[in-house]
Amino acid sequence: MSLSISFDDGYKTVYDNTLPLMQNFGFKGTVFVCTERVGVEDFDGEPTMNLDQLRELESLGWEIGSHGKNHGVLTSLPYGKRELEISESKEFLQRHGFRVSSFAHPYGVSDEATRKIVSKYYRCARSAFEEQGPYILKGTDFDPHRIPALYFASFHFLKRVKRMNGWLTIVFHSISERAPTRRRDNWISLQRFTDFLNNARNAGLESFTFVDAFDKIRETEVVTKLSAITSMRESLIARIWYAIDKISNLCWVDLCKKCMHAIMTIKTGANGGARK
Ligand SMILES: [Zn+2]
Repeated sequence: MSLSISFDDGYKTVYDNTLPLMQNFGFKGTVFVCTERVGVEDFDGEPTMNLDQLRELESLGWEIGSHGKNHGVLTSLPYGKRELEISESKEFLQRHGFRVSSFAHPYGVSDEATRKIVSKYYRCARSAFEEQGPYILKGTDFDPHRIPALYFASFHFLKRVKRMNGWLTIVFHSISERAPTRRRDNWISLQRFTDFLNNARNAGLESFTFVDAFDKIRETEVVTKLSAITSMRESLIARIWYAIDKISNLCWVDLCKKCMHAIMTIKTGANGGARK
């Protein structure tokens, strides 16, 4: 069904090289930026995008999400400092006019306490390859603040995503002709990236930003399924709840595993947010 392509750390090669290629394919990506590394000359040996470049991406339908302030491993920070990384990075982006819904855990690392904080501020959050799969998501039976992602996928794997009618997230970093002097593991060549885009298109996958794919999979599961199995009134109520959820981030809407009717969970304070 869908593919989300995200780019971590906000490297300028995304603006220079990736954007034109993605445009050619009609694909829209998500960039997860570290807010204290926006518009700098040297982040792991490479320049990063500035605010104007990020704004241009957003105006073209891309999503800008938070990757924390400083790319620290959140689980090793004291609780208070951890919350500041999570909340202040969102505030920074909002202050500069971005619509912020998603978070990517630095190094893909998180624990329950961290995800609880993240869920107070963000609709969804991405981990990385370090997570156990499954990488092809279906339905809503996954932690919205621990969504796994792969660093690459073959044509064969992309076809499987299509066949399963699922959602797959891929993470890239820097994409350029020349490998950087540092962190080669952060890099792939333009040719390899173009091949990937070709494969995604030939596999018949649609590209969505991370939050759009997240919303789509939940809405499809909760609303469409409900329409098929319950009364019009039930599905109308679910649609209203879902709209509140999407606009306000105040509640979760899900299907009850037993009766298959919609259930709404109101998020409350520091302990709220996580799906029951
Ligand atoms: Zn990163």
